Amino acid sequence: MARKVLILGETREGSLRNVSFEAIGAAKLAADGGEIVGVLIGEGIQSLGAELIQYGADRVVTVEDEKLSQYTSDGYAQAILAVIEEEKPEGIIFGHTALGKDLAPRIASKLNSGLISDVTSIEETGGNLVFTRPIYSGKAFEKKIVTDGIIFATIRPNNIDPVQKDETRTGDTSSLNVEIKDLRAIIKDVVRKATEGVDLSEAKVVISGGRGVKSEEGFEPLKELADVLGGAIGASRGACDADYCDYSLQIGQTGKVVTPDLYIACGISGAIQHLAGMSNSKVIVAINKDPEANIFKVADYGIVGDLFEIVPLLTEEFKKLKV
Ligand code: FAD
Repeated sequence: MARKVLILGETREGSLRNVSFEAIGAAKLAADGGEIVGVLIGEGIQSLGAELIQYGADRVVTVEDEKLSQYTSDGYAQAILAVIEEEKPEGIIFGHTALGKDLAPRIASKLNSGLISDVTSIEETGGNLVFTRPIYSGKAFEKKIVTDGIIFATIRPNNIDPVQKDETRTGDTSSLNVEIKDLRAIIKDVVRKATEGVDLSEAKVVISGGRGVKSEEGFEPLKELADVLGGAIGASRGACDADYCDYSLQIGQTGKVVTPDLYIACGISGAIQHLAGMSNSKVIVAINKDPEANIFKVADYGIVGDLFEIVPLLTEEFKKLKV
């Protein structure tokens, strides 16, 4: 059944985040030939509409207001609810990002609709659209179908393929005037922690260090490997607790959830709380001195040995492949 599906385009520092294109990929599956409408909210975002269309949106609606220049749940909710009221979509897809996790439940409750969060795949089975999402910290998966009302889902970054970009694609970008009422919270200033390199939550390659790296300097060989592979650095809580790195790098149940194409765990034992954040990675490589380490149970490739010998060897080999 063809459905009109609305996706929220997420921006960061003036550019569209990759998850926006993945949301269009998810919308294509859900729309079943129906129209895909991209929504952009903020200030000075009009020019990004063309890019959403090149990635598969049929049309884009923008809501611009200086009160929307920074994300607030209150402001964005007012904007997106106005678009939903206007467009009356049968499906809505957001990224399962910090923004999506905050905004989607609020919108779902206003619409009196259900929400399938943290979706990792969508497929058509027996005439039903089936949404798969991990539960119990990734130990099991549940499959959901929507039997009534709007289809509303948030998708986990890096799981659903975006539609191939087509620079010849064109479509309409229109703006919707929404009167944004006074916000209950106003963002005065955003202080970002300086981070180097690739964004961890969207990285295709993650090199993670655990307590086995033994010190802050112990992360250096991992950074060299990450540089060669164009990857991001992650860590176990063990490494963060030991002050070898910042908590912003923590992966796991109480840290970030990542699903890169390649996850290399160096000196990480594989506690269940760590696995919760990385076990859905496409290929997992574990390097650990202890052949009994739990991480080997989820690894596709295991290397038993000292990470300080193995990681530089890998870096050298990957450098050769790049030449
Ligand atoms: P360890 O368990 O100490 O393992 C270090 C590993 O390094 C060992 O396997 C050792 O064999 C290996 N090693 C040592 N030297 C070398 C070497 N030279 N070369 C190769 N291997 C070497 N943890 C998370 O990671 N993320 C979370 O989000 C998280 N949330 C938690 C929430 C709760 C409520 C609780 C209770 C715990 C949580 N934890 C989390 C902590 C988790 O239980 C583990 O304590 C932690 O993951 C262990 O970190 P680690 O594997 O780096 O350290």
